[in-house]
Amino acid sequence: MSNEITKRTKLEMAKSPEGIEGPGFFATKLEDVIGLARKNSLWPLPFATSCCGIEFMATMASHYDLGRFGSERLSFSPRQADMLMVMGTIAKKMGPTLRQVYEQMAEPRWVLSVGACASSGGIFDTYSVLQGIDKIIPVDVYVPGCPPRPEQILEGVMKIQQLAEKESFRRRESPEYKKLLNSYGIE
Ligand code: SF4
Repeated sequence: MSNEITKRTKLEMAKSPEGIEGPGFFATKLEDVIGLARKNSLWPLPFATSCCGIEFMATMASHYDLGRFGSERLSFSPRQADMLMVMGTIAKKMGPTLRQVYEQMAEPRWVLSVGACASSGGIFDTYSVLQGIDKIIPVDVYVPGCPPRPEQILEGVMKIQQLAEKESFRRRESPEYKKLLNSYGIE
């Protein structure tokens, strides 16, 4: 068992059962292993409507290369994505569609709000623009900026990775999480 894995995952070593020892064996918790797998295989659903979406394209391209984080596989089907990335101005008319996309994603799912418009309406304090997507769906991480640079988007993804890695199996069944969804009228 290499020290490298221990360092990277902060796993604690346990004493091997008798007869099962030597290189290639280690003991850990299932929750930690699932967290490690989830963290490094987040599948984004890019919900991009305007300029911030262009920054996302740069984030995916070779220079910044989101694939380094295991997230190169974009999904345009909510059923095969677990990280909703909302980028750009969201008109109120688009709100129900965004919410439907969120509702169609399976648990566990995480939401990254990229840029001022998605997070707060940005400079568009007008009758037609949603003043932040957290008016209609829960958000896990906000990325500030107009537009945020690709480095900031990467940092937002890394924050989601931290949440995914540490999330307990029970969180999605917890009364707190159900209460959060209920506050948005989501069953
Ligand atoms: S935050 Fe700025 S760059 Fe991003 S969509 Fe809004 S206006 Fe465009």
